Amino acid sequence: MGYFYQIKLFYIFIIIKFDKMLKNLLNLIYPRLCVGCNTLLLTNETTICSKCLHHLPYTYHWKNHKNDTTKKFEGLLPIEFGISFLYFQKEGIVQEAIHKLKYKGKQEVGTILGDLMSAEIKEFIINQKVDAIIPVPLHPKRLKERGYNQVESFGKAISKNLNITYNDSLLIRNVYTKTQTQKNKDSRQYNKENIFECKFQESDYNKHYLLIDDIITTGATLEKCGKAILKIPNSKVSILTIGYTQS
Ligand SMILES: [Zn+2]
Repeated sequence: MGYFYQIKLFYIFIIIKFDKMLKNLLNLIYPRLCVGCNTLLLTNETTICSKCLHHLPYTYHWKNHKNDTTKKFEGLLPIEFGISFLYFQKEGIVQEAIHKLKYKGKQEVGTILGDLMSAEIKEFIINQKVDAIIPVPLHPKRLKERGYNQVESFGKAISKNLNITYNDSLLIRNVYTKTQTQKNKDSRQYNKENIFECKFQESDYNKHYLLIDDIITTGATLEKCGKAILKIPNSKVSILTIGYTQS
């Protein structure tokens, strides 16, 4: 082995060592934490630790048509199916993860949950023949404040995995809704029927739309969105949310 070759190998070795040190140092300054339990992630883990992944509270709504999500719309909105992916428990993994998705800019939470959900419901969704995924829209003012729609990464992951169009321009929100606490003081504005509007054309007729949201509580928002979508001639609507919580 030539002398220069040995020197070259030595430098490569130093660079690799340095790269590893830099990564460790970065991990020390900006630790990679699990979005569900806030413990340090192992090198082979991303976004959510294997322990949290193992303990995700699946609803299995996709195996039972008369589930808690479907029941919320009985007599209010005719839906093809209703599914929530996970149970949303107070101080649980799902609450923690959705909080980070919604308020801490962690859009990767939506992507990983969307990937997991796609794997679980692939066959079910294909059988249901869904034409497009429609996110519950944010008012443009809210979108500007948050910078993104919290359900977008989840919806786009499903769209990509199951090859279904993601359409965030069909349904729009006309009214800027205040935060939950302010809302209680002024519920009249929230109850306006025309809060959501569907901007459709003939090419949108005769389709099955899958409305998606982060959490379902009373289902009132989704019901209003669903009603707006059903104004499209010969359309069908279904509901899918990340979390389910009892109202
Ligand atoms: Zn965890």
